Amino acid sequence: MTARIIDGTALARRLRTAIAARVDTLKASGVTPGLAVILVGGDAASAVYVGRKVKACEAVGIRSFTDRFPETIDNDTLLARIAALNADPAVHGILVQLPLPPHIDMPRVLETISIDKDVDGFHLYNIGALVTGNTVFSPCTPYGVVKLLESEGIDLKGQNVVVVGASNIVGKPTALMLMAEGATVSICHIHTRDLAQYTIMADILVVAAGVPGLIVAQMVKRGAVVIDVGINRLPDGRIVGDVDFAGVSAKAAAMTPVPGGVGPLTVTMLLENTVVSAERTLALADA
Ligand code: NAD
Repeated sequence: MTARIIDGTALARRLRTAIAARVDTLKASGVTPGLAVILVGGDAASAVYVGRKVKACEAVGIRSFTDRFPETIDNDTLLARIAALNADPAVHGILVQLPLPPHIDMPRVLETISIDKDVDGFHLYNIGALVTGNTVFSPCTPYGVVKLLESEGIDLKGQNVVVVGASNIVGKPTALMLMAEGATVSICHIHTRDLAQYTIMADILVVAAGVPGLIVAQMVKRGAVVIDVGINRLPDGRIVGDVDFAGVSAKAAAMTPVPGGVGPLTVTMLLENTVVSAERTLALADA
């Protein structure tokens, strides 16, 4: 068996075309969707991620506003800027690029963002609301995983899903969102004993550990669908996921590549959330 490649780049392109059309409709009604991005410090990877998000906004017609603050910024200045963006009607989404410097009170920063503009879905309300299915916005990477599975026509009801990785921004929310779709979900993490005992049971295996080569063919059920969220840079400069692509593709039915799998969806879902926010604003104005 050679796994079908789940092409995240192609799916993202299709979704972005539809998003661009919705942006045009909003503009025709006098609303230009706006995303504010806050970047603190000089982390090179963060700057690259922010650059990609800004470019993606431009490509679909979303206006973006980027605030770059020095590493030395204090909590109060940052919180005051977020409060100003919360009140700015031209801004429909606010994203604070993580990680933040250690002296910054990250939970407080995230909770200062208005839940109506929390397009990253990291506000405590939106994280908690994943439990009841009442989020204002779903976090972008888990939302992207759901979209990839949806694009494969997979009905999640009753499927055995194993999520490897239990972070607050990827693993846990992904598990909750897939459970909401009716899957039976197991979550594994660094303290899980005998990881393979779980992964081998998975009809759908989602891996978000940040460990290159963590999942090898013997750990995967024949015919499984494998979603590799991991992004790892090897010493030779190559970008790889957490799954041994060559080995596992001989056993899985379908799998995402890295790059070109989940990554393009993460940015796409940020655009989607921003447009949804602008559409809600317009609907409220019309009400
Ligand atoms: P994290 O470091 O916050 O969490 C990693 C999780 O994996 C933890 O729960 C940890 O317990 C678990 N883990 C680590 N080693 C393990 C092991 N040997 N066995 C089992 N579990 C193990 O990372 P994160 O922010 O959740 O990101 C995970 C990966 O996903 C990273 O490679 C990151 O770069 C990538 N990522 C990709 C996207 C995307 O858009 N594709 C978005 C966010 C994160």
